[in-house]
Amino acid sequence: MSAVASKLSDPLSSLSVPGQCAVLPGKDPDAQGFFGPYGGMFVPPALAPVLEELAAAYLKYRNDPEFLQEFSYYLSHYSCRPTPLFRCDNLSRSLGGAVIYLKREDLNHLGAHKINNTLGQILLAKRMNKKRIIAETGAGSHGVAAAAAAALMNMECTVYMGEEDMRRQAPNVQRMRMMGATVACVTDGQRTLKEAVDAAIGAWAADPSSFYLLGSAVGPHPYPLMVRDFQSVIGKEIRQQCLEEKGRLPDVCVACVGGGSNAIGMFHPFIEESAVRLVGVEPGGRGSGKIGDHAATMTYGVPGVVHGFNSYVLQDEKGEICPVHSISAGLDYPGVGPEHALLKDCGRVEYVTATDKEAVDAFFTLSRAEGVIPALESAHALAHALSMAPAMHKDQFIVVNLSGRGDKDLAQLEEYFPA
Ligand SMILES: *Cc1c(COP(=O)(O)O)cnc(C)c1O
Repeated sequence: MSAVASKLSDPLSSLSVPGQCAVLPGKDPDAQGFFGPYGGMFVPPALAPVLEELAAAYLKYRNDPEFLQEFSYYLSHYSCRPTPLFRCDNLSRSLGGAVIYLKREDLNHLGAHKINNTLGQILLAKRMNKKRIIAETGAGSHGVAAAAAAALMNMECTVYMGEEDMRRQAPNVQRMRMMGATVACVTDGQRTLKEAVDAAIGAWAADPSSFYLLGSAVGPHPYPLMVRDFQSVIGKEIRQQCLEEKGRLPDVCVACVGGGSNAIGMFHPFIEESAVRLVGVEPGGRGSGKIGDHAATMTYGVPGVVHGFNSYVLQDEKGEICPVHSISAGLDYPGVGPEHALLKDCGRVEYVTATDKEAVDAFFTLSRAEGVIPALESAHALAHALSMAPAMHKDQFIVVNLSGRGDKDLAQLEEYFPA
């Protein structure tokens, strides 16, 4: 633990009371990376100076016009931004209540919102004169986006991935290799994401001159801030598109929450708009609420430290990280971004769950109603929107963050196809 981490001698003592936030949500974290009691840098001493260097570099370039212009150039010319806001007429008509709009993040390069963040981080890596990228991946989407960004900037890239995930996600392993990345196979423990993160952090500590490209709004400071900033392009565009098309902001914004990057990117520009309801949907998995049956961190977790930061975590009484389950590999994580933890305590964002079955039903409903096949992750957000809409007025509208496309999930869904 670094000196920075010791700020919180007893993390539980400073927890805010739900609905009574001592800290205003929607602001930047403090200098040590805390969003209220959550966040921080809980890392081995060897990594503390590396993170401090990264935080200093990010703060330097964060508002630099040239940096922002280059980021914006790649977002539009490499990843087709702005992504459209699509009104689902068929779906809305059949629900008979609020109108549903989709923010089409599935139309980004590589089919998900992840590229927004990897482009931002790779441009920072370039300015820091880094030559080598380290990343880790579970389902493979972040690994693929990191490999693409590294290829684009002519950097070497090593992606750590559990052996079990490599087997389940073989096409993504091929994509990464196709783009010149090395996929490092991790054979410890369960051979999935948690072990891949441990291995990647170890590799980074061994080569601090490399750049660790993190895939969600999690990890030690400054990652949650940086990832939120890069993904906020989603919410900023939604704001502008709603004002242009409807002349007002949405009644509700809904996003799925894994580590929390697509959700915080959507929510952040609306935090101070108290008339806009913000809803984060966690994976309820098999729906029992039992350990091992879900990955709904804020619904069932407790505050604790995981992978370098303090937030809600799924852990048992001994502090061991619990096994997690979700039909969607991208939501299968036992932690959640620290800013979400604060937003939950403050009551500014509602966090709910959708089960595997509800997500699968929403997946088919959207595919058939509109000819848009959503990622199973995004189908969790959609499932909740489908349940809210009928009770709302037809003048109201809900924006669902369609974080990715579902082509990657087709094999997984075979068993659900009607005969
Ligand atoms: C990775 C992924 C997610 C979950 O990650 P967040 O950081 O919570 O956004 C959601 N949707 C898709 C399509 C993904 O690839």
